Amino acid sequence: MVRFNPKARLDTSRMRDAGSGGGGGGLGGGLGGGGMRLPIPGGKGGAGGIVVLLVIVVAGYFLGINPLGGGANVYSPARLSDAQQGTDRYANCLTGDDANNSPDCARVAIENSLTSYWSKELGSRFHPEKAMVTFTGSVDTGCGAASSAVGPFYCPTDETIYLDTSFFKDVLQNQLGGPTGQFVEYYVLAHEYGHHVSNLLGFMGKVRSQQTGPQSDGVRLELQADCYAGLWAQHATSTDDASGEKLLLDLTQEDIDQAIEAAKSVGDDYIQKRSGGRVNQEAWTHGSSEQRKKWFMVGYDKGTVDACDTFSAPRV
Ligand SMILES: [Zn+2]
Repeated sequence: MVRFNPKARLDTSRMRDAGSGGGGGGLGGGLGGGGMRLPIPGGKGGAGGIVVLLVIVVAGYFLGINPLGGGANVYSPARLSDAQQGTDRYANCLTGDDANNSPDCARVAIENSLTSYWSKELGSRFHPEKAMVTFTGSVDTGCGAASSAVGPFYCPTDETIYLDTSFFKDVLQNQLGGPTGQFVEYYVLAHEYGHHVSNLLGFMGKVRSQQTGPQSDGVRLELQADCYAGLWAQHATSTDDASGEKLLLDLTQEDIDQAIEAAKSVGDDYIQKRSGGRVNQEAWTHGSSEQRKKWFMVGYDKGTVDACDTFSAPRV
């Protein structure tokens, strides 16, 4: 069990809860099992790299949705700012003690730990994500409207992480038979934060095609996020709050095992088998269970950002 330092002060400034949104289309996806968003370099200067949504059939299979139905809402600043005001879900998350007693506050503490770690690791190359947004139903994002069905995801356009927290029970556990336990969510948060890091370091610009398959650019980007999640897990207990108090006190082998199990249960081959289909490597967008476990462990064992350069590896 992860224990938070009761004395640590939590920073909720990037946390938002958008509440429950109605309507909206269901497009895109994030972690695996849903679709994913592949940023494609958009001409010169990367100004407004076009975000292309790869919609995965599997998502529809599991969730009974037509991913292309419903029509995506065009990004609407007015509605986003509604979402950004949001609910007061995180208002009472003040200390590590609160994090020990509330999954919502624990999410804040993990976000703080991720920000603390990556800030130290990347120095001047770092700025935190704009926001970590929880929602139910649907939400408008800089990448278009999204529904719960897409799973957690990072939108590079607005540098924001979005998650419907019912994903863990409804999809990961019930539908994919994934593991239970608090570290499962922390791995997912660390994976999505990893996409922000790939964005900061320019790796998203290396995704040159929408091709899928085990060695594709898209899979390399996903495995890099898994590697960054492992990297954070390795250093998590040495992260501090703004006043220098430790954020996390313990992290056990059991926690790491949960993360590995979670990574495996969102592997493409596993999901394809689970859905009763044959394993079709050519359709892979996130990597196999073995690949995902392997790259989490590369980050965890090697402990360096360079070790996570999945784009330079001849094979991933
Ligand atoms: Zn991902």
